[in-house]
Amino acid sequence: MRIPARMVPPFSAILSRNGRQAKLVPTDETLVNGSISWFVPVLPGSRRRLRVLCPCGCRGVSDLFVLSPGEDHPTDEHAIVWRWDGNVEKPTLFPSVWMDRACGWHGFLRGGVWESA
Ligand SMILES: [Zn+2]
Repeated sequence: MRIPARMVPPFSAILSRNGRQAKLVPTDETLVNGSISWFVPVLPGSRRRLRVLCPCGCRGVSDLFVLSPGEDHPTDEHAIVWRWDGNVEKPTLFPSVWMDRACGWHGFLRGGVWESA
């Protein structure tokens, strides 16, 4: 499965309960699966985020914390972060993305395209 990651303006999501797991659900029904938006940090020390609408169609949302090129990994060993190649329009992230707060979809974002693992 290859799905283009369409860049969209920041979109909101609502938190709902799905059994024991929290699931984030986008409020905008018009968003295309695999859409992503940037959240640029405002407060000092806060991290750049990429918000992802799951490519699989489950309408789950995940927020990924990303490191800019050359940025050091946080000293907090529990921090989960992705390396970003610096391309804003067609980003590549490393390592792979696991939608662990949604459906469990696993795949890659390379050159602005989602690809199942
Ligand atoms: Zn999904």
